[in-house]
Amino acid sequence: MNSSTIPAPAASAPIRVRIAPSPTGDPHVGTAYIGLINFIYARQNGGQFVLRIEDTDRARFVATSEQMIFDALRWLGLSWDEGPDVGGPYGPYRQSERTEIYRTHADLLLANGTAYRCFCTAEELEAARKQQMAAKLPPRYPASCRNLSEAQVAANLSDNKPFVIRMAVPTEGSTTFRDELRGDITFEHSNVDDQVLMKSDGFPTYHLANVVDDHLMHITDVIRAEEWISSTPKHVLLYQAFGWAAPRFWHMPLLRNIDKSKISKRKNPVSLVYYRQAGFLPEAVINFLGLMGGGMPSPTPVEIVNGAKEAEIFSLAEMIQRFEVPNIRLGGPVFDLTKLRWLNSEYLRALSPEAFFTALRDTILSDQYLRDISTLIQTRIETLGQFGELTGFFFRDDVMPTQEVFLPKKRTLEETLAFATEQLTLLEATDWTTEALEPALKQLGEAHTWSVKENFMLLRAILSGSTMSPPLLESLVVFGKARSLDRMRRFLETQKKLANARK
Ligand code: GLU
Repeated sequence: MNSSTIPAPAASAPIRVRIAPSPTGDPHVGTAYIGLINFIYARQNGGQFVLRIEDTDRARFVATSEQMIFDALRWLGLSWDEGPDVGGPYGPYRQSERTEIYRTHADLLLANGTAYRCFCTAEELEAARKQQMAAKLPPRYPASCRNLSEAQVAANLSDNKPFVIRMAVPTEGSTTFRDELRGDITFEHSNVDDQVLMKSDGFPTYHLANVVDDHLMHITDVIRAEEWISSTPKHVLLYQAFGWAAPRFWHMPLLRNIDKSKISKRKNPVSLVYYRQAGFLPEAVINFLGLMGGGMPSPTPVEIVNGAKEAEIFSLAEMIQRFEVPNIRLGGPVFDLTKLRWLNSEYLRALSPEAFFTALRDTILSDQYLRDISTLIQTRIETLGQFGELTGFFFRDDVMPTQEVFLPKKRTLEETLAFATEQLTLLEATDWTTEALEPALKQLGEAHTWSVKENFMLLRAILSGSTMSPPLLESLVVFGKARSLDRMRRFLETQKKLANARK
């Protein structure tokens, strides 16, 4: 078969959608955005919304991430009908608990000849890649193992040679699938590599696990970010290899920074934990995400008379009533933090005084937060009235130290900013406990010959805006990872802008 289009699910099948986040770190605003659209679509169609955890990439797995994803989505009011923590008829909903299922399915493909075992070593693949680069060819698997005889395969297996399972992508022709927002999309097979389906560690790759699960979980509509478009032909080929009908595909435009680049933590906080801890209301965040991409209809005449505000402020329930997924515009929606702050202020203003007070007490004035902070200052305080002076930075959004405060005496601005960048990269990958932070920071200092004093003072200045603060590591832990990292990023961005302006 050369060119192919595939049957979509029967129009009458009950709608079932899913999000499939990978627990690799903090829950991302993009996950909430895609979650919101899936949730609305399910609710509008009397369908089911499934949460599946795609945790087969063990190298990037972060143990605390799954619970953070659950908490963040629930905080936003996006509840799921089936998932790892609520169960459901098609579980388990955590891919690491389904490895046997993938293995059986990979065997089906081996048996029908649409997949093959590849015994190439990392060195062999690297050598092939170098040759292709030298010949200015795109790096591709050279198909060395695609036509091994049964006897060769048997010999390799009895030698216990490690292997992966690859998909035998047709060498000619093309695959076309329909994207519900874009129309037909065609990929030439000559541009599709023989994908690995099962890794040598026995875990499936994203492609195999995703297709097998979407099929076994009866997903009718795959609504996901547009970065997965290039994976879709591989998925379509897999549906064909199994002889299954494929779901409908909807690829949502990626959220963008103000400068239209793909949303990134350098330019916007992207962790939902940040927004919660920094005192954004879930109603404002979900409303803001609902504004992305034009799924809400234009204002009615009444709304226009009442001012544009009316058309921009809506609840999740209103979105379920009026949002139109097929109307999503493909131009990248801009994640404009100024707009989100404005929306949040509207929601705060609309609260009753009592509800406003409760919102404060639940977030930045919670007993737990105050207790954690008070532990840090008890031995440094002369009167209780000094509490504000000692702890102000825990309650402020806009801490920004001056050069006198953050620049160590013997260091240039350039090397200081370079070291602060190293601190940020390190801390992004460090567990947020004093036991983990202390040795990690000290090692970094030694590697760059920064004294402990210089190293910690710089970080203290960035966190607190001052040369004095309660114990640094404990303060970082109490302030939280998402907000501390965001403060470091804001510091670096601002200092780079100032440095450029001085040039
Ligand atoms: N695990 C993928 C992710 O992290 C799922 C993509 C998809 O929805 O197919 O987004």
